[in-house]
Amino acid sequence: MTETPEKFIPLASPDIQETEIDAVIEVLKSGNLVQGKKVLELEKKLSDYIGCKEVVLVSNGTATLHLILTALGVGDGDEVIVPAFSYIATANVIELVGAKPLFVDIKIDTFNIDPVLIESKITAKTKAIMVVHEFGLPAEMQIICDICEKYGLLLVEDAACALGAKIDNQHVGTFGNAGSFSFHPRKAITSGEGGAISTNDVNLAIKLRGLRNHGVDSAVNTRMSFKYAGFNYRLTDFQAAMLITQLDRLNKIIEKKQEIAEFYNLNLINEKIIKPKYTSLLKHSWQTYHLVLNDTLKQKMVINILKDLGIGTNYGAQCMPEQEYFKGKYNLDSDTLFPNAFRAYSQGLAIPCYEKLNARDLERIVEAINKL
Ligand SMILES: *Cc1c(COP(=O)(O)O)cnc(C)c1O
Repeated sequence: MTETPEKFIPLASPDIQETEIDAVIEVLKSGNLVQGKKVLELEKKLSDYIGCKEVVLVSNGTATLHLILTALGVGDGDEVIVPAFSYIATANVIELVGAKPLFVDIKIDTFNIDPVLIESKITAKTKAIMVVHEFGLPAEMQIICDICEKYGLLLVEDAACALGAKIDNQHVGTFGNAGSFSFHPRKAITSGEGGAISTNDVNLAIKLRGLRNHGVDSAVNTRMSFKYAGFNYRLTDFQAAMLITQLDRLNKIIEKKQEIAEFYNLNLINEKIIKPKYTSLLKHSWQTYHLVLNDTLKQKMVINILKDLGIGTNYGAQCMPEQEYFKGKYNLDSDTLFPNAFRAYSQGLAIPCYEKLNARDLERIVEAINKL
């Protein structure tokens, strides 16, 4: 007699509840589908949650970054400092506005930019730092803010993974000129696609609202007048409606992820893996629980072994200068220039960390990883 195999545990699984489904249906029946009342309601609700003056909702997390750099005037001839390890969108948007990314290595235990390495990269052309709160762990903002002030640099936070993450009591996305959040299904709350920009700069928000909507002069209400060559990066009202009810649950979702992360921290005891750093002062949103395998394990093989045991895992993010486009254009040797980013990319392992996992799932995951 063969045992029935246990169910497959996916790497990620969005938790869409009846309240979201009802909210979407209500919007569909209303006939007001794009950038209407629900978008305004969510913008207000998110700005209260994050603790910033303005939130501008847009169609996805990449659009937020593109819009921010455009609105801040980052473009041809400018350089932007960025960690070498992130989701590829972070570096792509710098290229899209005509600027040049200056890659900086990360720390291997936090996966965030190593602030000690930033100053030596700054040149007369450097205009901004784009920091990433990788996997939901806040970057070292105190030092980074000081550097920005010292050199007069703009500061953009890619907080795509980090909605709800804080340093002391200050939310990420409020340290620099603007912050960017994503609502892709891999993030804590989702509308399929979706993004949000946080800022305390009211004039920047006005410009962002214009650029989001074909360049309309958003300060003028009476007539349509177009001030910029803008984009269509609007969010739909049914997507906003989904997020409004999920936002009410976000703190609970993060607490649950935190419990899972603590369980892993305690129970993963394989010396062939490095666990992610956890500091209680920084509130981690645990978008991803990310391990690094030592050289006796091979990433691809581990992913396959775990897959055969019914556990979905994957590499966590890219060493961006290693990707074909950036390699072709800048030809940087990541192995020597960004050893930690290269290692996190080639030996990193994202494992399941979301509220739907039950005790048995967690037990299976820990058992499988400890046996590697
Ligand atoms: C997910 C993600 C993005 C892109 O967000 P999308 O909504 O998928 O466009 C950008 N940066 C980081 C760090 C991300 O994790």
